[in-house]
Amino acid sequence: MEADTDIAIVGGGPVGAALALALRDSEFHLTVLEARATQSAGSDPRPIALSHGSRLLLERLGAWADVGTNAAATPINHIHVSQRGSFGRVAISAAEADVPHLGYVFDYNDLFLKLAGAAQRAACDYRDGARVTALTRDGNVSRLDYTRDGAAAVLTARLVVVADGGDIAGLAPPKILDYAQHALTARVHTTLPHKNVAYERFTPDGPLALLPFCARGEQGDRGNQGNEMALVWTLTPARAEALKDADEKTFLDALRVAFGARLGDFTAVTQRACYPLTLRYSTSTDAPGVITIGNAAQTLHPVAGQGFNLGLRDAWELAQILRRLTPQALTNPETMHETTAALRGFVSGRRIDRGATIAATHGLVRLFSNDFFPASVARGAGMTALGCIAPLKNILARRMIFGARG
Ligand SMILES: Cc1cc2nc3c(=O)[nH]c(=O)nc-3n(C[C@H](O)[C@H](O)[C@H](O)COP(=O)(O)OP(=O)(O)OC[C@H]3O[C@@H](n4cnc5c(N)ncnc54)[C@H](O)[C@@H]3O)c2cc1C
Repeated sequence: MEADTDIAIVGGGPVGAALALALRDSEFHLTVLEARATQSAGSDPRPIALSHGSRLLLERLGAWADVGTNAAATPINHIHVSQRGSFGRVAISAAEADVPHLGYVFDYNDLFLKLAGAAQRAACDYRDGARVTALTRDGNVSRLDYTRDGAAAVLTARLVVVADGGDIAGLAPPKILDYAQHALTARVHTTLPHKNVAYERFTPDGPLALLPFCARGEQGDRGNQGNEMALVWTLTPARAEALKDADEKTFLDALRVAFGARLGDFTAVTQRACYPLTLRYSTSTDAPGVITIGNAAQTLHPVAGQGFNLGLRDAWELAQILRRLTPQALTNPETMHETTAALRGFVSGRRIDRGATIAATHGLVRLFSNDFFPASVARGAGMTALGCIAPLKNILARRMIFGARG
């Protein structure tokens, strides 16, 4: 059976768009189906911290010039990790890690729009406002039912890459662990400048991150003297919802108690939003002719800011594997085994990076989300040791920046 397209990417979010960019100039005809309209996608205020390793990948995709300079990308030069009510801290700097910046803070919408725009310009068929409603197998091709502008439509594809953030039902059932926590995000203003330092503070409720954020970005005239920060605060669902709707004074008072006075005082809060947090990952190989990447393959707690960084590496590695195949090889019964082996190779090749990032992120949440006295002393001792042993700290920093390799 002939297919309409060689590769259909379901979800043109940051990871799906990155895959489309990584496959531009390949032999494949690509079609991206993205549920949101790219003209009016501005309703997700979450901040995204991109590592230096992700910047290098975006440079290779030819997208950094657009994303890093036109969007608001605030560099992180230092990371300061501490825990409330106990001793021990770790400080990591870009100079120690031998990189120009440890990472960059973006607004999710900015990142989405810039990458989607780049994918649209990269001569791929990027259909926005197209929501996939069903994915089925029809002979040796896959069939996607979707709606666009209120009308039902169908697309058939030799290969489907699912990058929808985990929305489509009917794929291999993922493992799901509900953290019973929400991430409360907001922009806050401080009396002291952030000086491009990102703070991660572990509290009994859960981790609290304050990331340097300049609306005008790296090229902005405030540089490291900016006083705006992006907050990602993990709390019980009830407390997160209450603080999201609380008056400004109540919110800022609670933040002062949780974070302390390292940034002077908190003077204003805007753009509050809540995100329920789960750990979700697939334990089996995907269905024939279907492969999942990004949040569709694994959704992590945002504690270490690794979800998109990991998804971007998924997109990059999958593109390298696909580039070794031809469109015909995706469906030709005589060569199908090569395709199947290549896709299995992708899944097993990603196991170490995915597994290590999931384990590290989950471990951090479990280790630090309690106030049990011996545990807090052990954590303090561990952080002090980590702070003092340079090689250990460097291993941690490089793993956060570049991911785990086999
Ligand atoms: C509060 C918070 C803070 C975070 N901070 C960081 C951070 O600092 N660093 C980091 O690396 N990660 C961070 N993450 C994780 C990061 O947001 C995700 O890992 C990343 O967005 C995954 O990208 P994605 O493209 O796989 O999925 P998504 O961003 O979810 O995009 C999926 C896309 O698919 C589309 N879609 C969905 N369903 C359909 C459908 N049926 N048909 C067609 N299209 C569909 C959606 O419209 C969307 O555009 C954070 C997450 C949260 C919640």
